[in-house]
Amino acid sequence: MLRRAGPSLRHFLLERKSSAGYSSYSSEATMSRPVQARRLEGIDKNIWVEFVKLAATYSTVNLGQGFPDFPPPDFLKEAFVRALSGENHLTHQYTRAFGHPPLVKILAQFYGKLLGRDLDPMTNVMVTVGAYQALFCCFQAFVDEGDEVIIIEPFFDCYEPMVKMAGGTPVFVPLTPKAPKDGKLMSSADWQLDPAELASKFSERTKAIVLNSPNNPLGKVFSRGELELIADLCVKHDTLCISDEVYEWLVYDGKEHVRIASLQGMWDRTVMIGSAGKTFSATGWKVGWIVGPNRLLQHLRTVHQNSVYHCATAAQEAVAQGFQRELELYGKADSYFVQLPGVLQQKRDWLVQSLDAVGMKPIVPEGTYFLVADISEFKSDIPDVPNSDEPYDSRFAKWMVKNKGLAAIPLSGFYCEAHKNTYSHFVRFCFAKEETTLKAASDILQKWKREKSSP
Ligand code: PMP
Repeated sequence: MLRRAGPSLRHFLLERKSSAGYSSYSSEATMSRPVQARRLEGIDKNIWVEFVKLAATYSTVNLGQGFPDFPPPDFLKEAFVRALSGENHLTHQYTRAFGHPPLVKILAQFYGKLLGRDLDPMTNVMVTVGAYQALFCCFQAFVDEGDEVIIIEPFFDCYEPMVKMAGGTPVFVPLTPKAPKDGKLMSSADWQLDPAELASKFSERTKAIVLNSPNNPLGKVFSRGELELIADLCVKHDTLCISDEVYEWLVYDGKEHVRIASLQGMWDRTVMIGSAGKTFSATGWKVGWIVGPNRLLQHLRTVHQNSVYHCATAAQEAVAQGFQRELELYGKADSYFVQLPGVLQQKRDWLVQSLDAVGMKPIVPEGTYFLVADISEFKSDIPDVPNSDEPYDSRFAKWMVKNKGLAAIPLSGFYCEAHKNTYSHFVRFCFAKEETTLKAASDILQKWKREKSSP
C-alpha cells in the first residue's frame, strides 16, 4: 500500500533542498553538471528561427523564407490523396528503410538517364527526410575529428554547424563579385571563385567540398568551366564532393545545369542531393534523396538506419508517381520541370524590375527562386546603432519587417561569423510567390520610395 508523504518526509526533502542546493521536486531541479554536449557549442543560433518568428509577428508580405505560397501541381496532390485513401493500406505503414521501392526505382531510372549510367535503385539511391537529412547523413558519415570541409561563401547556412557537429573544421572560400560593365544590372554569374584561392584551401586534411549549384542565396549556376576547376582539385587531392542540387530544375535564360558527378573522375567521389520540396513545390512533405556510388552510400545508410531509419511512406509513394509522370514527359512542354522554371523566370523578372525601380539594386539570379538585392541606398532610413556588432543587413531586415511589413533575409546570415560583415549590404528575397504577393511587395516598396523622395 502507498503511504502519503507525512510531515517527516516533507521535512527531510526540504532539508535536502536547503543543504544540497537542489530540490527533489523536478520542476525546481537544477543540475550542476553541464548538460550541453560540447559539439553544440557555438551553433545554437539559427537565422531561420529568428526571422521566421519576426515574419510571423510583423510581416504582411513574406518574401523571406524559401517556400512557394502557391500549391504543388495537381497531379502530385492527387497522387498523395490516392496514396492515403487508396486500397493499399500499407502506405500507412513502414516501408523499406532506405527508400520506398517505387521511389528509389524511379529515381534510379531518372538520374540514370540524366547521368548516362545504370543505377541500382537499392544501392545507388537513398531517400531522406528532405535534403536537410541528406546533408546531415553526409557530414556524419564522412567527416572525422580534424577533417576539413571546404564551403563556398555565401552558403546555405546549415552546412557550417553540420560540419562542426561531426567534429570537422569548415574552411571557407568566397565567391567575389565583379562589377558589371556599362551600368548593367549585376548577374549571379558575376560572383566567381578565384582559382588560386580555391586551390590554396585544399590540403591533405580536406575530406570534402560542399558544392551548391544552383546556389542559395545568390542563384548562381556554376558553369561547366567552374565545375571542372572544382572537379580537378577534388581528383588531385582525393576529396569527396557533397553536391547539393536541390534547385536543379530552377534554371533560367536557357542556362544549363551541369551535374558535377557527370564530369571526368567525379562519379566515384560525389554524392548528389535532391529535394521533392524544391522539385515539386512541396517543401512541407520533406522528401529528399541522395544519388551516388555504393561505396559512399553504404556509409550514409549506416547513419540513416541509426537516426531516422525511415521517411513517410505516403509522401514517398506520391513523389514516386510524380517522377513517373515526369519521366514520361521528359523535356516536353507539359513537363512540370519545364513549366515551373518558365513561370518562375517571369516572377524573377517582375521582382527584378520592382526592386530596380525603387533603388534596391537586384543581382539577377541565373537559378533558384531567390534574388539578392543591394540595400546600400537605404542606409539613411535605418536608425544607426553605434558600435553594434550586428551587420547592417540584419538590422535592415529587422527594421523593414517591423516598419514596412516586408520580410527578407540578410545576406550576412549566409556567411560564417568571421566574414559576416564582408557583404552585409544585401538582403535575399524569395520570388516563388503568387502574383498578388509579389504585387503587394512591390506596393510596399513603391510607397516607401515615394515617402523617401517627398521632403
Ligand atoms: N539545400 C539547400 C541549398 C536549400 O536551400 C534547402 C532548403 N532551403 C535545403 C538544402 C533543404 O531542403 P529540404 O527542405 O528538402 O530539407
